[in-house]
Amino acid sequence: MSNSVNVEEIFAKNVFTVAKMREYLPEDVFNEVMHIREEGGELPLKTADIVANAMKDWAVKNGATHYTHWFQPLTGVTAEKHDAFIKHPDEEGRCMLEFSGKELIKGESDASSFPSGGLRATFEARGYTAWDMTSPAFLKEDAIGTILCIPTAFCSYKGEALDMKTPLLRSMEAVNTQAIRLLRLLGNTTSKKITASVGPEQEYFLVDRKKYLQREDLIFAGRTLFGANAPKGQELDDHYYGTIQERIGAYMNDLNKELWKLGVTAKTQHNEVAPAQHELAPIYETANIAMDHNQLIMELMKKVATRHGLACLLHEKPFKGVNGSGKHDNWSLNTDDGINLLDPGDSPNENIQFLLVLSCIIKAVDTHADLLAQSAACVGNDSRLGGNEAPPTIISVFLGEQLEDVVRQIIEFGEANNLKEGKTFKSGVSTLPDFEMDATDRNRTSPFAFTGNKFEFRSVGSSESIGSPNIVMNTIVAEVFSDVCDVLEKADDIKTAVHDIITKNFTEHQRIIFSGDGYSDAWREEAAKRGLVNIKSMIDSIDTLTTEKSVKLFEKFGIFSGAELESRAEILYETYTKTVNIEARTMIDMASKQIIPSVATYSGELAIAVNEMIKAGVTPVVQMGLLNDINKELTAMDVALVTLKNLREEAITYKSQKERAFFFREKVVPAMEALRAPADRLERMVDKKVWPFPTYADLMFEV
Ligand code: ADP
Ligand code: MG
Repeated sequence: MSNSVNVEEIFAKNVFTVAKMREYLPEDVFNEVMHIREEGGELPLKTADIVANAMKDWAVKNGATHYTHWFQPLTGVTAEKHDAFIKHPDEEGRCMLEFSGKELIKGESDASSFPSGGLRATFEARGYTAWDMTSPAFLKEDAIGTILCIPTAFCSYKGEALDMKTPLLRSMEAVNTQAIRLLRLLGNTTSKKITASVGPEQEYFLVDRKKYLQREDLIFAGRTLFGANAPKGQELDDHYYGTIQERIGAYMNDLNKELWKLGVTAKTQHNEVAPAQHELAPIYETANIAMDHNQLIMELMKKVATRHGLACLLHEKPFKGVNGSGKHDNWSLNTDDGINLLDPGDSPNENIQFLLVLSCIIKAVDTHADLLAQSAACVGNDSRLGGNEAPPTIISVFLGEQLEDVVRQIIEFGEANNLKEGKTFKSGVSTLPDFEMDATDRNRTSPFAFTGNKFEFRSVGSSESIGSPNIVMNTIVAEVFSDVCDVLEKADDIKTAVHDIITKNFTEHQRIIFSGDGYSDAWREEAAKRGLVNIKSMIDSIDTLTTEKSVKLFEKFGIFSGAELESRAEILYETYTKTVNIEARTMIDMASKQIIPSVATYSGELAIAVNEMIKAGVTPVVQMGLLNDINKELTAMDVALVTLKNLREEAITYKSQKERAFFFREKVVPAMEALRAPADRLERMVDKKVWPFPTYADLMFEV
């Protein structure tokens, strides 16, 4: 078939992999690069020159004309500025290509137009990008040509982080150092390095591009701001894992090919719960590479969609009333010699190392639940969390029946002698095998669930970088490991000390463990009694970044300085305000230029019909009723529109970013809802032909 793919042939075709480095570099240089990649340190300029030249040769051979330092400023997306490899022509007018070590390792650019949250004044514009050697360079193929992309970290003139990459790398080093320290104390002498591994599952929606272009809200806000529910939603569960339509299948096929070429391990694909919703999951990898790859996944999802006449929506809640999209962040810690610290093995109750690590993670999550909630908070998640099939805003940990029972025994008796075993499930059909039932079921209602040998943080939003949640995970776990090491290093008897720490951690932090229905009202009450973190809106979570507790944590491990945290908080308030402001302006536009005029024209025609009928001697009961109802809603819309316009103008008078953000949340957001409600009712009343843009049914069921 024409769309068949030879995966082995195309995989990582556009990546300067270790294998390609080996091929293009002299052996001693290759060894030097590998050594620095693994052990850290700086590449000497002379070596960098050789590497850069090899990279250029490979890139040019594959059609590249430019290179770019590819980075991730605090805009949520990636940034790039292209430079051609050409250098000054010689006297005879010949142009040679060049890429120096200096250009590879470090870039200098004007950073003044990227968010810095007041970290530097506009006149201090200089920003630096530095090559992240642990993430491979790759080629982006585009209409613009082929560009060699160097993954980099981005910081200010004074070295403050202005991106996601820098703090993520810092946090990976912190958790590596502390975890190795811990393993040594437990007697491990072989593991050299511990890596935070991450597998983010990406959910997304696809809609028809022509229809998308007819809706300003989708274009400007990435989500619908008006829209009555279609007669059918997701209630029949017929979309989840359903057969993938041809048009979507062609898209997925193309997307996979593009991703594989970039060395992204696109592995799992399926239809998700909501109509027009899908998921793609890669195989997990080192956190910084997983973050880079997730950005590429998001970018290509959009680009490939355009090619197929589709539009990809990555917003957390594109449609009211059906599921939103998340990005389950699967996280674990793995040694270079193949040990997953979160692997319980066959008898978790006797696996001391596992129990210690588990108890530390429980403690970390309970101690810093506010930071975790913050790391997943974003404007889009305000409409998603706590709604259809999304985790609740309360942070709790799901362990599953078996582990929870182990923890209970430890709290009660100081040890766990029994292990609840999975049962065998008889299929009842001689030709079908009997199943070993897992000792642990799944629980979709938990924001933070243990799933076999990893934790799955499900609150993370679909549109967001996975930087923040993983920075927080790595850092809070590093802190608890570090505290444990401090105790163990002084202990006379390590075995007893470890045992005591496990018991203490579980006992003191058991309130965070919960396996029941996270959607129930009973849980909300219970969680409040337990004093668990329940932050309902993004802006309520921002100040958790700058509490004494957080500053102390992040400074201790050199992840963020107090000033960097302040700046991030400032950027978040600003992002909230700007995002809601765009949404409000879009609604005002759609209401005044599209909905109200269309409905007014329609009701005018209706009024003429009513008069004509009365003249003809019949009583237009239905038409009169409809006209009255429409008029009532139209008036309500007009009132709400005036209110929204006034509030938006008032909002801008607040000078402090924080006050402005709160005003938007408390006054502008409710006013937006007040404008939407009558519009959605009108959509149900008027002739379909009159409605000025595609409806939910058009968007979700006719892709
Ligand atoms: P589930 O069905 O429980 O969500 P999957 O096997 O589908 O689990 O995995 C979901 C994601 O988790 C994938 O990206 C996968 O690669 C990743 N993953 C699996 N094991 C680990 C691990 N040990 N650490 C981090 N991520 C993992
Ligand atoms: Mg999962």
